[in-house]
Amino acid sequence: MAQKSLSSLSWKSHFIDGTPGDDEAGGGPRQVPGACWSRVRPEPMPNPVLRMWSSEVADTLGLEVAEEGVLGGNRIIRGMDPYAQRYGGHQFGNWAGQLGDGRAITLGEVDTGKGILELQLKGSGRTPYSRFADGRAVLRSSIREFLCSEAMHRLGVPSTRALSLVTTGEEVVRDMMYDGRPAAEPGAIVCRVADSFIRFGSFQIHAMTGDVATLRELVKNTVKHHFPNHSADSDNGLLEWLKEVSERTALTIAHWMRVGFVHGVMNTDNMSIHGLTIDYGPYGWLEGFDPSWTPNTTDAATRRYRYGRQAEVGAWNIARLLEAITPLMQEPMRMNDALDSYYNAYREHSSRMWSEKLGLGYFEDGDDKLISDLTSMLQMTETDMTILFRLLSIDHKPNVEHLRPAFYKEGEIPSEKWDAWLDRWWARVEGAPEKAVMLQANPKYVLRNWMAQLAIDAAEKGDYSVAKELYEVLKYPYDEQPEYEGKWFSKRPEWARNRIGCSMLSCSS
Ligand code: AMP
Ligand code: MG
Repeated sequence: MAQKSLSSLSWKSHFIDGTPGDDEAGGGPRQVPGACWSRVRPEPMPNPVLRMWSSEVADTLGLEVAEEGVLGGNRIIRGMDPYAQRYGGHQFGNWAGQLGDGRAITLGEVDTGKGILELQLKGSGRTPYSRFADGRAVLRSSIREFLCSEAMHRLGVPSTRALSLVTTGEEVVRDMMYDGRPAAEPGAIVCRVADSFIRFGSFQIHAMTGDVATLRELVKNTVKHHFPNHSADSDNGLLEWLKEVSERTALTIAHWMRVGFVHGVMNTDNMSIHGLTIDYGPYGWLEGFDPSWTPNTTDAATRRYRYGRQAEVGAWNIARLLEAITPLMQEPMRMNDALDSYYNAYREHSSRMWSEKLGLGYFEDGDDKLISDLTSMLQMTETDMTILFRLLSIDHKPNVEHLRPAFYKEGEIPSEKWDAWLDRWWARVEGAPEKAVMLQANPKYVLRNWMAQLAIDAAEKGDYSVAKELYEVLKYPYDEQPEYEGKWFSKRPEWARNRIGCSMLSCSS
């Protein structure tokens, strides 16, 4: 029997069939009022070569072969009706107007029998939403997106997925740090997969331009296909839907805090209506536990999107989404309830996750203080978050000696404070922390910034073995995997401290 290929999947076009679109297909950058999408074609690439493949995502789709021609944008299959989505967004707190898929092109939606999944190529050429840019993506960002989306999923963090990474055979010019030193880099395309790529900004663009009719169509279509338990026909229905969006968003951000992930660009155009982690750009992972850290150099001045502020920014973004839906409500004041659900859900998830990280079993009065004393201690000297929590995940009482591998500077360890805190923790858990729960809340392996960089350095020389090894290790982030321990359960090496791509990333991708 022939292997299942992309053409044997059940292709659908619920989004473009159910929402108003652009009359014109393709074409250069322009404003597209009244539309949710524009038909476009991926640009053919000189030499698409498959480099990375997620067999897990392929299985979900029911795919058995990787067709690099299609995944590289050179060929369209019957049933696909490719388009770029129109959306807007608040960028760094300011309304930025029309943005849209400037380099992402949706091939179509697949009915897997268990739900709809959208397949989208990122980096496959210009669209009406490309503005001043080239519609391309470079290999380094594509590797970062591929590895991180799959790693996040395995960590239990809701995320868009990645099916494939294809190099295009084309060179793309980028001024990586925006300092006037452009260089040619290899181009690549990731095929990403998600329930949909609809963002908060997809709704905002219509509300902000006063186009209530299009807004209503988009909301109706989104609820119908993606939130079938809800209805968009009444205030009650809309509110229940938005509460679910708020709760999902809160859950995802609580997970980010649990694993030490910093998104880096939480603009409202990068907020998924499904509450998925979306748009892997200058994201990063905490190494030293520093709530003020952001990987994004573009945000260095205000650090709006720093680790410690993500929950608050999530609320700000939810408020912008609620505002956008307000024109559809008879009693707009009721929107406050949805914002309350965000805060309540965040508080609940955050407490639960901290209690899991510390094996507390349940959350009680006084635990807040235990946790805040811990997080302030983690900041007294550079302390690796992942290693610290993993070493703590044991069922005999540790002393500060046991935690030593987590500290960067031996001479600066606040030992007395640690021993005192460990005594308190041990008393709180009555000498029996929930070790099994801790081991599922405190990953051993995360995609540290320098790990992704090593994969990129090798890939840029044509060697994908590091990227493939990381993909495998990060499939089981909570398992001991002793064979990888020495290499990947490890603090940031000194070379990575100030290296671009490790401690500093720009939006240039
Ligand atoms: P981001 O900061 O990556 O979320 O992107 C913000 C906006 O810029 C989105 O509308 C992107 O589609 C667009 N964009 C980013 N990079 C490119 C590119 N190389 N070509 C075209 N559009 C881009
Ligand atoms: Mg984006």
